[in-house]
Amino acid sequence: MPPGTVSVTDQQGRVVGTALWSPDSEISLRMVSRRAGEVLDAAWWHERIATAVARRDGLLDTNTNACRLVHGEGDGLPSLVVDRFDRWLVVQLLSAGIEAHRESIVAALTGLVRPEGILARNDASVRTREGLSRSVEVIAGSVPDAVEVREHGVRYIAAPHTGQKTGAFLDQREARVLAASVARGRALDVFSYHGSFALHLARRATTVTAVDASGVAIARAVENAALNGLTNITGVEADAFDFLRAEEGRGARYETIVLDPPAFAKNRASITGALRGYKDINLRAMRLLAPGGTLYTASCSYHVGKADFLLMLQDAAADSGRRMILRAVTGQPSDHPEVITIPETGYLKGALLEAGD
Ligand code: SAH
Repeated sequence: MPPGTVSVTDQQGRVVGTALWSPDSEISLRMVSRRAGEVLDAAWWHERIATAVARRDGLLDTNTNACRLVHGEGDGLPSLVVDRFDRWLVVQLLSAGIEAHRESIVAALTGLVRPEGILARNDASVRTREGLSRSVEVIAGSVPDAVEVREHGVRYIAAPHTGQKTGAFLDQREARVLAASVARGRALDVFSYHGSFALHLARRATTVTAVDASGVAIARAVENAALNGLTNITGVEADAFDFLRAEEGRGARYETIVLDPPAFAKNRASITGALRGYKDINLRAMRLLAPGGTLYTASCSYHVGKADFLLMLQDAAADSGRRMILRAVTGQPSDHPEVITIPETGYLKGALLEAGD
């Protein structure tokens, strides 16, 4: 049977519901309804996507012009991601089942949002495991190479065609505001990408060092600093582990540190190694904090839950010899909805810690 939609019954033949069907995938069924025989026609997609769009009502305002419009399973639309950057949309169709409905999805988005263009960032590697090809293509209108994102008083350039994910990391928008609210003195933004945290920190801190292993990302961070008229941000192209170790070695101190690493745990088998990595960078960051300094630290690994993350931080704090005060535990912003019974929808967690001594 080709990819598309199927009715699902249990072994006794009782109706379970309707699912997207991906014959070649490890995840062959993705439930979209508890009713069998649901017809996923254009009207169905329009209604489901309209609900997701309405969930963001009020989010796109004077504070920002970019947000996630569809967060996969979190919005009842498994394997579909849609991010809005100003007047343009970037979509990811991440399963064969969802790909089969591409036309209706594009029609619904066009009708609901009236974007100037839609870009499909279908270069994600999971598509291979769905038996799908990988490509980046404009599927409606036109989409520029660079889009200026406004975010709570700072501006940065997103790169929809070439940037990581869909061009920028929208999921840390609120965390940047939180980290900036306590920023001061010497600040460090580690795993900076194009400097989104650094830009926010720089409005309150004296100096900000933005560190990333990607030279391209750091070059963009420096450009973004200039775009905001900020002269107190320095970009450093370096491996974060090496950088933090060297800073600790020379006895450096920072009043403000942000750690926003990529997902260290890509699968279940790598959880132990990932936790070692998280502990390493957090332990060093804690040791680098000046008394009273704050650390905002995050993990975007699906496979490291909130409880594991907090235990790792507890472990790092104990080894650091510092008295670390937990000031806030953070999750995903409201445009990345988390379904409490579907742990995979809740990938992002963070904590704001203060060095109490
Ligand atoms: N903080 C960013 C998002 C970071 S994404 C934001 O708010 O937009 C993770 C970043 O870590 C990527 O830019 C990637 O280039 C970088 N990275 C991955 N491994 C790294 C390493 N070992 N050392 C330094 N940077 C690394």
